[in-house]
Amino acid sequence: MSAKDLDQIVNLCKRRGFVYPSAEIYGGFRSSYDYGPLGALMLRNVKDAWVRSMVQQRDDVVLIDAAILAPPAVWEASGHLANFTDPLVDCTACKQRFREDHLEDKNVCPGCGAKGAFTEARAFNLMFKTYAGPVEGSGAEVYLRPETAQGMFVNFGNVLQTSRKKPPFGIAQVGKSFRNEITPGNFIFRTREFEQMELEFFVPPAEGPQWYEYWCNERLNWYVNLGIPADMLRLRAHDADELSHYSAGTSDVEFLFPWGWGELEGIAQRTDYDLTQHATHSGQKLDYFDQSTNERYVPYVVEPAAGATRTMAAFLLAAYDEDEVGGEQRTILRLHPRLAPFKVAVLPLSKKDTLTPLARQVYRTLSERYMVEYDDTQSIGRRYRRQDEIGTPLCVTVDFDSLDDGAVTIRDRDTTDQVRIPIDGLVGELYGRLGF
Ligand code: ATP
Repeated sequence: MSAKDLDQIVNLCKRRGFVYPSAEIYGGFRSSYDYGPLGALMLRNVKDAWVRSMVQQRDDVVLIDAAILAPPAVWEASGHLANFTDPLVDCTACKQRFREDHLEDKNVCPGCGAKGAFTEARAFNLMFKTYAGPVEGSGAEVYLRPETAQGMFVNFGNVLQTSRKKPPFGIAQVGKSFRNEITPGNFIFRTREFEQMELEFFVPPAEGPQWYEYWCNERLNWYVNLGIPADMLRLRAHDADELSHYSAGTSDVEFLFPWGWGELEGIAQRTDYDLTQHATHSGQKLDYFDQSTNERYVPYVVEPAAGATRTMAAFLLAAYDEDEVGGEQRTILRLHPRLAPFKVAVLPLSKKDTLTPLARQVYRTLSERYMVEYDDTQSIGRRYRRQDEIGTPLCVTVDFDSLDDGAVTIRDRDTTDQVRIPIDGLVGELYGRLGF
């Protein structure tokens, strides 16, 4: 069972310290969220899982970390200043604003029900503008990036020179992006500040279609391998009228959210659009000379662009479950061990001083390898429930027998099975169970 209702996840996130509304003591800041002690760990795990699969486990992708602030010239060339807009309509009756392309009926206001009360749609640019330096003026304008992708394109030449890669190869980046969304909402699904995980994969032009197929499959499998049931995912190809002007084909990986299918990631064939635009605007060559064929060409780009924060919501929703253990109801997050904030919890059966040194020693040993929680408050049953609810795959309990037999009990989150293991073999046992 997954969460049927977004509120189940929103409440759990608040109660257990995954995600809080931002600036809550001042009444909140609409659609902004802060990631608490568990959420910060989980979000990092989502990003690490992406880097592991996209960079670490292959030799044809490198990672960069580009600046968030960029001058207008970049956005002029990329087309964002002219085209990165949503159609905005105002309701003249209730004064609320909507994205016209998200309205169910373009004539009826979903806020107050007024008919035919919308203004003409106007193109609203989603980029946040600010000023660099002490003078606010047109020469000082800068923009917060609305996507990480342009950082890869403007650095194409630098990376080509310094990394000794040649097409087909990719540049990956993970980081914050900002969009002044007209209608943010659905918790962390659509926020104005969010994190992206993007790859620009540069290929010889003729290989574009085959790499596009390849990345569509790779990316869909990434979500399945990290525990999202296949029937909650689909790959949807864009219709011709949905495609961006530069795209030769785009598919979205979609997840079945409680409100319906929603995009987690877009995989696009961007052709040579971006490199050509930046080459023209900057006057710099952004191409590749293939010595084996004596040919110079502008590589085509296949771009899998995912959202880290939005994806975290999907992982939480899919992992949510409720079942009964020993006649008692429990809430459980069946998170993949790589995504779980803590991999192991060390729980001394009692707070008595006699147990503490051994329990602390176990904690120190395990925390060399894993993110581990140490918890000695409340009854053992309540502590197991808490770890189930935050998705910790394994608990290690240190009891009074441990002092004599040098063994501890491992409890499995999903089955609740308990097995006694010598402390000497604990690290190997955990490695076997977690898979890392
Ligand atoms: P949408 O149609 O939902 O606005 P998009 O097609 O504009 O998304 P892309 O530009 O393809 O999105 O961005 C790639 C990914 O970045 C999206 O699939 C999503 O996971 C994430 N993303 C985009 N906008 C937001 C946002 N406002 N909040 C959270 N994540 C976002």
